[in-house]
Amino acid sequence: MSPFFISIDASWSVAPAAVRDAGFPSMSTAGDFSDAEFDNGRRLFAGEWSFLTAANSIGSLPRPDGLEVAFAGRSNVGKSSLINALTGRRALARISKTPGRTQELIFFAGPNRLVLVDLPGYGYAAAAKSKVKAWTRLIHDYLHCRSALARVYLLVDARHGLKTVDQAILDTLGQAAVSHEIVLTKCDQVSEAELAERGETVKAAMRTRPAAFPDLIATSARTGAGIPALRAAIARLVRERS
Ligand code: GDP
Repeated sequence: MSPFFISIDASWSVAPAAVRDAGFPSMSTAGDFSDAEFDNGRRLFAGEWSFLTAANSIGSLPRPDGLEVAFAGRSNVGKSSLINALTGRRALARISKTPGRTQELIFFAGPNRLVLVDLPGYGYAAAAKSKVKAWTRLIHDYLHCRSALARVYLLVDARHGLKTVDQAILDTLGQAAVSHEIVLTKCDQVSEAELAERGETVKAAMRTRPAAFPDLIATSARTGAGIPALRAAIARLVRERS
């Protein structure tokens, strides 16, 4: 059972010592991963990960091969840090930050033909309207046309919760009927009470969306908390789809 996996139906409860020791406040402990699944996740992400390609248009997407899991979220939500923490490779996250690359879909290839896709961050206030339109179009087209896409993890800053700009991508995910799940980031930055409140608010918002996966995973790239649960969730998906 994962201490960092928040079930939509769970009531909040006091976390075990391991959660507190990892720098988290106490929270729900309703995760449902077995030890074997945690181990599968650990092994999957301990494997070889490398930059595959970057695409700035639908025409330049790589040929689908295997399963894709994409990460979306506002600029600065902690997406690069999370991908870095998942794969344990700093160089991967740096690629996403390379100037010119921030507006592209970045593909990382891993074991078992699993591909992680870093979608361009949105909601950057200083971005020109024409650019915003182009990114929005690209993300929209990718989400609608990609048969290899198994799930999108929508990253939400635990300090701020869902923002108006997140609603647009949630609408697109719903329309495209793409399985998606919220991952709270930077959970080391909020108190126990804040995390509980944020979790409840996000859960309530997600209940109205049928394509949304009915759980949240709370993470901190800084402390590593919740990362094993996210790895286990992805490993489970790989097993289910292969
Ligand atoms: P991106 O723009 O979504 O790729 O976000 P980054 O991964 O670059 O992170 C944005 C900022 O948030 C950076 O200053 C990171 O150091 C910080 N950050 C990312 N993850 C965490 C986290 O789990 N905890 C804390 N405290 N800061 C984080």
